[in-house]
Amino acid sequence: MGKQDIDYLIVGGGIAGALLAYALVESGKSVKLVHASINGEASPISAGLINPITGQRFVKTWQWELLHQVFVDFYTKLELDFQCKLLRSISIFQYLNSIEEENQCASRMLDIEYQNYLEFDKSKVNENDKFPLLKINRAYLLDINLLLKKIFTYLEQKGALFIEKFDYSDFDPAHLVWKKFEIKGGVVFSEGSFVMDNPFFQNLPFMAVKGHRSIVESKDYLFDNNVFKLNYSIIPIDKHRYWIGSNYEFNNRSVELNKEECEAQRNFIENNVILPRSTIVNQTIGIRPAMRDRRPVVGSHPDYKRIYIINGLGTKGSSLAPYCVTQLVKYMLNGENVDKEIHIKRFIWK
Ligand SMILES: Cc1cc2nc3c(=O)[nH]c(=O)nc-3n(C[C@H](O)[C@H](O)[C@H](O)COP(=O)(O)OP(=O)(O)OC[C@H]3O[C@@H](n4cnc5c(N)ncnc54)[C@H](O)[C@@H]3O)c2cc1C
Repeated sequence: MGKQDIDYLIVGGGIAGALLAYALVESGKSVKLVHASINGEASPISAGLINPITGQRFVKTWQWELLHQVFVDFYTKLELDFQCKLLRSISIFQYLNSIEEENQCASRMLDIEYQNYLEFDKSKVNENDKFPLLKINRAYLLDINLLLKKIFTYLEQKGALFIEKFDYSDFDPAHLVWKKFEIKGGVVFSEGSFVMDNPFFQNLPFMAVKGHRSIVESKDYLFDNNVFKLNYSIIPIDKHRYWIGSNYEFNNRSVELNKEECEAQRNFIENNVILPRSTIVNQTIGIRPAMRDRRPVVGSHPDYKRIYIINGLGTKGSSLAPYCVTQLVKYMLNGENVDKEIHIKRFIWK
């Protein structure tokens, strides 16, 4: 049987692969996305929170202004194309645990760069709260499951989606052939944490960061446009469902639930005044695909120039994916340089 020419084959349809497939199809390329939902995948488990100020020092996240511009444009285009709401502006109310944290935030607020982002909120959630709540403005919630559903439907309608597990033994890297397809542009691996089993990228310093999350239902209408960040984050999904999580287990790729962690989340939920009369309906895990230097990795394989990677989105897939996809598309289609901080070349390869 004769081979069929296509431009790009993408392996793995989490947020990285799905946005990439969409962007390439929109650029007029013929694309096939091979995707299987494998236990441990990150995107459908994610909360879709985009937080501009993170860490113990309350600093703006890496390249915030640039990332912000790119993800707002990207998701706004998707909202228009798919006629749905994907990105919501929200505020995050974060509990502070010490006078040092309060002072750190107060000094940040004096910095002009932070004035629109941070303020103290004097309302008390618990009677004996000692410190004000930190209100982080200009945050967002991405409806990542709706986004994936919309892109999969779009690709399916174009005959561009294969729901199956990509098997490396079906792939000829020298001639870029997969099954009946001869791939003219390139093959992109966007497999999330499963890249650690990929024979082409064994030399990259990946790190799997497992996290548990719980979904709760509550009959009470509590809040739908704010996120509370205590020991765990409480994130509204809709009027009666909340996402609670998460923990960080470094270098753990096991997909088993950790009973102690599930119990810790259960205790948190049962004893939390913000979540009265709520029931846990699901607890599960996802594995964040991270790099040891905490930056994404984008670019092509040193020996097989038309085998590409987009990975290492870590804890921030919702804000990083549009930027990484945009960089990769410009690189593949126009030969433009990839931002050196996310370029695969930064790793010593051989
Ligand atoms: C508990 C938790 C909470 C999180 N919360 C947030 C948050 O609030 N905000 C945020 O920005 N980020 C969050 N993240 C991080 C975010 O989920 C990741 O950064 C992002 O989803 C990574 O996307 P990805 O496409 O690279 O990987 P994945 O989402 O893992 O996608 C890769 C996909 O490829 C598929 N695949 C792999 N191998 C194959 C194969 N051989 N054949 C076919 N298909 C294959 C997998 O099944 C998977 O679906 C969270 C992660 C976790 C675990």
